[in-house]
Amino acid sequence: MRYIEVRARKAALMLMIGIVAYFACSGHAGAAAGKIQVVATTGMLADAMQEVGGEFVEVAALMGSGVDPHTYRQTRSDIAALRRADLIVWHGLRLEAQLQPLLDKLSARQTVVALAQAVPKERLLSDANNPDWFDPHIWMDPGLWRLVVDAARDALIAKDPEHERQYRDNAKRYNQAIAAAHESNRKLLSSVPPEKRVLVTAHDAFRYFGRLYGYEVLGIQGISTESEASLHRIEQLVRLLVERRINAIFVEFSVSDRAMRALVEGAASRGHRVVIGGELYSDAMGRPGTREGTYIGMIEHNARTISQALIQAPAKP
Ligand SMILES: [Zn+2]
Repeated sequence: MRYIEVRARKAALMLMIGIVAYFACSGHAGAAAGKIQVVATTGMLADAMQEVGGEFVEVAALMGSGVDPHTYRQTRSDIAALRRADLIVWHGLRLEAQLQPLLDKLSARQTVVALAQAVPKERLLSDANNPDWFDPHIWMDPGLWRLVVDAARDALIAKDPEHERQYRDNAKRYNQAIAAAHESNRKLLSSVPPEKRVLVTAHDAFRYFGRLYGYEVLGIQGISTESEASLHRIEQLVRLLVERRINAIFVEFSVSDRAMRALVEGAASRGHRVVIGGELYSDAMGRPGTREGTYIGMIEHNARTISQALIQAPAKP
């Protein structure tokens, strides 16, 4: 009896400690007691960390929907969130160019993992303008992104080996869902006649997509949006749209559509009609709570939008 009474008292005490700890922690943005606090730079990474980490993690993304990672600079609250994190993940490959100095500094004291490092160099595309740099838009190739999911799993296991089995199961299940989405996207994209498989976008975010699905990809800006679109490049693309009778181009959710409108107007002034075929999720996902607010929803949206617009566009003479 006594034993039970002591245990009951102890349980009540533990509960009280728990409640006090909960309220002490709830002072900072929703930190739940016992969960691994993960901060990811982009939504795509946050999605992977949440899928793999499941109930054992609390994940925050620094960049919300529609935010351009190439030009993003940290805010004061970002710095506070990063300092509190148990695990910080970012892409690397110069995607988060402006955040890199801060992340390098934090890595002296905290666990900071560049997940794009999981992709072997020979599978990366290099930047035509800077041969020593690699194209960071690896999420556009679901096969490469699955390597990032594996790296997310390994980072969580290193932090919390106790739940290794769950992390492995979650990563396996998520990677299977990604592979299934890729398979249906591949079918959809191969339904576009080969001569119409040209993707014109605001910046070069779709080169991995192009390599994988057999599309020619042309961007107004290079692989980063850090510099302005040049007038020369716009004129060059207008000429190309007219000459090759390309009728649909695409705007990007996280990049200004001004240069794309200049292409439409430029082609129109030469008597060639070009339409905006839709809005693609290049470097950021859609709004939270929507299908497009997930990585899988994002790549499905892109494949659907691209295939529909290019199939509907009038055929070349
Ligand atoms: Zn980009």
